[in-house]
Amino acid sequence: MKKEVRVRFAPSPTGPLHIGGVRTALYNYLFAKQNKGKFILRIEDTDQTRFVEGAEEYIIEAFQWLGIEFDEGVAIGGDFAPYRQSDRKSIYKKYAQELIDKDWAYYAFDTPEELDVVRKDFEAQKKNFQYDCQTRSNMRNSLTLSSNQVKELLDSNTPYVVRFKFPANTEVHINDMIRKEVIMNTNLLDDKVLYKSDGMPTYHLANVVDDHLMQISHVIRGEEWLPSCPLHVMLYKAFGWEETMPEFAHLPLLLKPDGNGKLSKRDGDRLGFPVFPLEWHDPKTNEISSGYREKGYIPKAVINFLALLGWNAGIEQEIFTMEELISLFSIEKISKAGAKFDLDKAKWFNHQYIQMTQNSELAKNFNQTLIEKGFNLPITYVEEVVGLIKERCNFTTELWEQGYFFFTPPEAYDEKIIKKRWKPTTPNNLIQIIELLDTIEPFSSAIIEEKLHNYIEENQLNMGDIMNALRLCLVGQGKGPHLYDIISMIEKKETIERINKAIQIISPQ
Ligand code: GLU
Repeated sequence: MKKEVRVRFAPSPTGPLHIGGVRTALYNYLFAKQNKGKFILRIEDTDQTRFVEGAEEYIIEAFQWLGIEFDEGVAIGGDFAPYRQSDRKSIYKKYAQELIDKDWAYYAFDTPEELDVVRKDFEAQKKNFQYDCQTRSNMRNSLTLSSNQVKELLDSNTPYVVRFKFPANTEVHINDMIRKEVIMNTNLLDDKVLYKSDGMPTYHLANVVDDHLMQISHVIRGEEWLPSCPLHVMLYKAFGWEETMPEFAHLPLLLKPDGNGKLSKRDGDRLGFPVFPLEWHDPKTNEISSGYREKGYIPKAVINFLALLGWNAGIEQEIFTMEELISLFSIEKISKAGAKFDLDKAKWFNHQYIQMTQNSELAKNFNQTLIEKGFNLPITYVEEVVGLIKERCNFTTELWEQGYFFFTPPEAYDEKIIKKRWKPTTPNNLIQIIELLDTIEPFSSAIIEEKLHNYIEENQLNMGDIMNALRLCLVGQGKGPHLYDIISMIEKKETIERINKAIQIISPQ
């Protein structure tokens, strides 16, 4: 029988969630849904020195915004609770002990100072020190000390760590679903710390024990964890859990737009795009990092472009619904090479999704901005405005800039347009246009257009000058949606007032 697919996203709450982490979670989610499996959120907070206040809440909120739901995990619960490693502290000790008993691990008592001395010694010989199968026999650990000495040290509460005991010169084979077979020799691997005398496991022990206990079937995670994988594979062997060991898939890195290195926290704001899903206020430094949500991205657009950073369905199509992604996704089609972040493409996707989003939905959010600015208009009006301007927006945050004149008169008039289009005859012509507008009924875009055009033609006026001057009066600049739509939306009285005001300001008598 095929085993149930159970995958997990296992972030450490050390700060805001990097967009690469969001992609890892997304791939896990797609894989779980495709296989009718379970997607689990496990918080890996064993390294208390790196714990950051608010990071866990941030992670949960980010996935809520993105519409990625977990089946089990922190804040949800499930059969394998608790899902926060600090709440599982008591579980790990016995596994560390089991490894020691089976001679797969050992106590190491070397103090930080002692380790420093050895490290410096190696450096002096232009070598790098690694606590491993070759060096451990010269260190202070339960392999070199007598059992009585070890007992004494333990009884006197001497701080220790438990290290994994890699066998010498052994090949470890990893069957990665993306990279296929990866082989590493244990001579190159260090005896990683698994457990510390303060009662805390390290990432490696907790991660493997929890993946086993939570019956995780596939570990899909970032490439940065590939070097740790031989240890994990060996831990499964040491515990005798090889039969149920998860399959591994290590995802390619997200690279800077120029392909030079990993996309880092600093790149985003430097290059003009967020690296985090939501804005993050660092509690320690008070630094603010921008977020996709606050920058006006549509969650579905973020999902769509992230899905394609490192994976493609092998077809021309670029816009995918979540359902399509779920059915098309395949780990085998994930590329081995890093994926370059492409800001223009991200913008393009967001533009497409803004066009696909219902006006009523965009209007709901936009109305919040309007209320903050003191405008309280019927939502149907806001919806109509959104319908007229959304094609000009790459981000929802641009709605105001693209449509403020539907709510308030312009505060200034573009000098360049004045110079080019505002002729000595313009005020007079505009006064006649006011008279004409006054007679138009019903005041609809199509009728206004027809009447104005006829008038301009009959009177042999310059269409470009008049139209641009009129736009200048109403909008303050030379661009914007269809002029007659604006006129009919703001209605007759407001249109006339704006024209009169502009004449007074631009051509005072
Ligand atoms: N806690 C690790 C992280 O922060 C999880 C790595 C894994 O998925 O095994 O990325």
